[in-house]
Amino acid sequence: MTLPPRPRVIAVANQKGGVGKTTTAINLSTALAATGHATLLVDLDPQGNASTGLGIDPAARRLTTYDVMTRTASLAESVHATEVPELTLAPATMDLLSIDIELSAASDRALRLRQAIAAYGAEPAAPDYVVVDCPPSLTMLTVNALAAAHAVLAPLQCEFFAMEGLSQLLTTIAEVRAGVNPDLVIHGIVLTMVDARNNLSNQVEADVRSTMGELVYDTVIPRNVRLSEAPSHGKPALLYDLKCAGSQAYLRLVSELMDREHRMLGAA
Ligand code: ADP
Ligand code: MG
Repeated sequence: MTLPPRPRVIAVANQKGGVGKTTTAINLSTALAATGHATLLVDLDPQGNASTGLGIDPAARRLTTYDVMTRTASLAESVHATEVPELTLAPATMDLLSIDIELSAASDRALRLRQAIAAYGAEPAAPDYVVVDCPPSLTMLTVNALAAAHAVLAPLQCEFFAMEGLSQLLTTIAEVRAGVNPDLVIHGIVLTMVDARNNLSNQVEADVRSTMGELVYDTVIPRNVRLSEAPSHGKPALLYDLKCAGSQAYLRLVSELMDREHRMLGAA
């Protein structure tokens, strides 16, 4: 079951919380949009941090990814405009918390997001890219994201148990590949909240690079307070403070990611 080539779907996933998934998803989507690729960010985390971080008030989230997953709404109907031209958002609310239970009897439960993206992809307003911000778990929501994605981008925080967490994610990716999405690839692993003055951080980085090799992007995202301030202003860091070290690192990451995109798509 091959995915349609358009839109290109990238899932930002890691079952650990607080590793930089949402920060990466928001700034990746913003940079894609700013470079002329119409992009939809799908918030698939019940915490709705990507929705808040893009300034979409909870009260304004009328039709959400919960409605998409339960087929009460199409993806197109759930979409909000954002402050960034060419960037739209499908918001999330706490309703998503019950999705595993609600879909437990549905035989197509792993494919709801894929079907919704395919339907949207056939419309004239379809985006070029869909970026999915996953919740901190490997349950049905993340499985839906992996089943719908061409590629996974995994943020990894440089801390002691980073590799253990990564191996669980790799196992889940292998399962999804063996099942509903044989063409799923790992786009890359990005090291986040890196502190070059911290020995442990350096040691973990060396360890991850020697184990995972070229899968690890050269670009690392430094620990940067501006990145953590931006969401409280409802703005991507790239709009909040373009010049800060964090924003500049995300711009480098996206240019590296686009190089890989060209290689992957050129080879396809
Ligand atoms: P996740 O989505 O994986 O739970 P977040 O992107 O929400 O992770 O990041 C967790 C917290 O760390 C948030 O408060 C975020 O603002 C902050 N944060 C993320 N990346 C950085 C960074 N590079 N430097 C400093 N703070 C960061
Ligand atoms: Mg998050």
